[in-house]
Amino acid sequence: MESRKRKQPYAEKHLFTNTLSCADCGKGMHYKKNRRGYVCGSYNKHGSKACSDHHVIEEKLASSILDDIEKLLVNVNQQNILFKT
Ligand SMILES: [Zn+2]
Repeated sequence: MESRKRKQPYAEKHLFTNTLSCADCGKGMHYKKNRRGYVCGSYNKHGSKACSDHHVIEEKLASSILDDIEKLLVNVNQQNILFKT
């Protein structure tokens, strides 16, 4: 049995690096400045023969996540109220 080392570099400037993975190949998505979003890691390294040109726009992603968080917060608030009363 080998113990697996898990390197976890500090999350850099971009929130979703190492969090997103490509739906096709499962590789992590890489941030691309010129796309203002993330592209598949395989595609980024090896081009279109490795994977398709997936990309996710950071802004859209952030807004959909913020949306989720908002819903979550609403839930939490409601629960708090229940607990308090
Ligand atoms: Zn891919």
